[in-house]
Amino acid sequence: MLIVMKKQASAEEIRAVCEHIEGLGFRAHPLPGAQRTAIGITGNQGAIDQGSLEELSGVAEVIRVSKPYKLVSRDVKEDDTVIRFPGTNATIGGKNLAIMAGPCSIETREQAFAVAEQIAAAGAQFFRGGAYKPRTSPYAFQGLGEEALKIMAEIRDTFGLRIVSEAIDHETLELVERYADMIQIGARNMQNYSLLREVGRTRKPVLLKRGMAATLEELLMAAEYIMNEGNYEVVLCERGVRTFVDHTRNTLDLSIVPAVQRLSHLPIIVDPSHGTGKRNKVVPLARAAVAVGADGLIVEVHHQPDKALSDGAQSIYPQQFADMVGEVRQIARILHRDVPDGIRVERQTVDLVDADQPVARAR
Ligand code: PEP
Ligand code: MN
Repeated sequence: MLIVMKKQASAEEIRAVCEHIEGLGFRAHPLPGAQRTAIGITGNQGAIDQGSLEELSGVAEVIRVSKPYKLVSRDVKEDDTVIRFPGTNATIGGKNLAIMAGPCSIETREQAFAVAEQIAAAGAQFFRGGAYKPRTSPYAFQGLGEEALKIMAEIRDTFGLRIVSEAIDHETLELVERYADMIQIGARNMQNYSLLREVGRTRKPVLLKRGMAATLEELLMAAEYIMNEGNYEVVLCERGVRTFVDHTRNTLDLSIVPAVQRLSHLPIIVDPSHGTGKRNKVVPLARAAVAVGADGLIVEVHHQPDKALSDGAQSIYPQQFADMVGEVRQIARILHRDVPDGIRVERQTVDLVDADQPVARAR
């Protein structure tokens, strides 16, 4: 069920409608748009009395949403979602493309800083780095853990880059939430519903990667889990799916980008690194992703890929990354979009890294 408020509805009327819904035992999700606010209702197994909702002050109409996903749907929110990172020019969604880059894993402080310096100079706004690695083999490098998160927090302070890192379970989520600016949920956890719920209770934007055998609907339903808990800042990520082909690690399904944009207001970015698994295919697919309309890219970059502890074969060199940014900027402009010059920090935001303070939860 969706309540569309009148254009001139006041904040007080919106709040009163939300309270009314919560009073009936349901969840209310106010979603402000450019023209008007819509309020999504979830948690209703049975019918709600549509007529009485229509009578509430400030309500324009009440619509039944028949699709299985509601909060992610364009039916609920027509305008594209744009996620902002306070105090910086970084955004995800909207006209400007988001460029994320960094090593698969944080290996040492020197390695992380060497890569960060070069990707910042090339125009990235986000630094990606794994602290907790979901590896196929239990004997493979599993990540430096909190030490890696501390290195990345230092990278944010030094270069301004906003930090994206993966949480693999409840315990690591708490730490990633504390140190990073954006929480990545990996392909292997896309259908870990208790983790999705938990990340939905955080106050940080979430990068949700497509599961390696997930359909479009399954991806949207995973995002719905997060939004249903009150976190509306979700970015989808195409990272390739398993197919019969063996010339690439995965098959990058670029057609999902316009498919998502038709159904959902959420931004969708593309990961051509895991999508191909091969260095020589990363830049061509990055160009294609921007041409197809992606809202950004996440790319693995390493200054010494032959020595990388994970995903070296798909990591590009910093110079390749710099050339790629120049190329995708030109492609973006043909589509009336742009790639910003890089990160700009306008003001220092409150330091959220405080080991003694529990992180605020949405509910
Ligand atoms: C990663 O980003 O390093 C990663 C493990 O990605 P995915 O979950 O897409 O495999
Ligand atoms: Mn990787």
